[in-house]
Amino acid sequence: MTVIHLKLHASQHAAVAPDQALGDRFAFHCSACGQCCNTPPLLTLAELLRFESRFIGALALRRVPRLIAGRQITLAGKQLTITADDETAQRTLFDTLLFAAPGGDSAGDALQIALQAVDYPSLQACPALDAQRLCSLHASGKPGACNVVPLDALQPDRLQHAVLASRSNDHDYLDAGCISAGTATTGHAPLTADGTVVDLHYHPALQQQRAALAADHAHWGKQVHAVLADALRDPAMWQRIPHDGFFNLSLVPVLAVLAASAPHRPARCLQYVDAQLQLIEHTLAAALARKHPADKPFTAQLRGYAQAYQALRPQLAHHAAAALRHSA
Ligand code: SF4
Ligand code: SF4
Repeated sequence: MTVIHLKLHASQHAAVAPDQALGDRFAFHCSACGQCCNTPPLLTLAELLRFESRFIGALALRRVPRLIAGRQITLAGKQLTITADDETAQRTLFDTLLFAAPGGDSAGDALQIALQAVDYPSLQACPALDAQRLCSLHASGKPGACNVVPLDALQPDRLQHAVLASRSNDHDYLDAGCISAGTATTGHAPLTADGTVVDLHYHPALQQQRAALAADHAHWGKQVHAVLADALRDPAMWQRIPHDGFFNLSLVPVLAVLAASAPHRPARCLQYVDAQLQLIEHTLAAALARKHPADKPFTAQLRGYAQAYQALRPQLAHHAAAALRHSA
């Protein structure tokens, strides 16, 4: 799933008189062309476990710019002036879904700590796409992140028109012609208007996705943030966290937190690790058969994940066996 975010970091600038203000009416129609399914999706913890044999999981870090009231951003050639209400709505959402940057709020960014499916970039496809480039998970239930596309659950409803303006300039969505500014054109249904999301499917889907992300934030996110805090305080490390795209790490810190959360969890984590080791082995074998030179860095990344899982496995097996003895 193409991850396109509000391009705020480079374009926030002091207020000047806008030539044309960005309208808040956008319409949308998905023809299921699959063009935006060119990378694997973000996942919640429940989805990560559910899709243990489908998606290779990774920890994903990204910097998300904070809006500043009075500033202007340019989106799709139009000007958007950030209001105090925009800033407050975003801060409220960030407080439940994101984390403080090492420099605090004054750093201008918040930190997203997410779970992400990953695959070889050279494939330019989500592994769940079938031969007809349709989502094979559509009938059984796609990840929540896919259910809200082209919206962004990290931004408040009052700014979803800005998300759509930003995405309408991305070549995948542009080629598909699925996002249109203004009142609905033929075949497109209104998606945003009057500062809110008006579509009856997308409005609850956004709420549901935010609730799932907030649960992850509380369940494992805070502890993983604490584990990573020292490393992120290193300026060189912080500079490696991008605004566009994600910095990926092994899932071991998440599994360690999860395994310690309840007596039955080490066994579940062990099951996940074994499924991932098998999936990584198959994925590496397919890549070696393709012999694509550009695949080498990701092959090294996957081997690193497999080594980290092999190192974690004995501890999980030990704790799973102890929990079994205790319950007998
Ligand atoms: S899970 Fe389905 S909808 Fe989501 S990115 Fe993959 S193919 Fe697309
Ligand atoms: S690019 Fe647009 S039309 Fe194509 S699958 Fe994605 S959202 Fe649907």
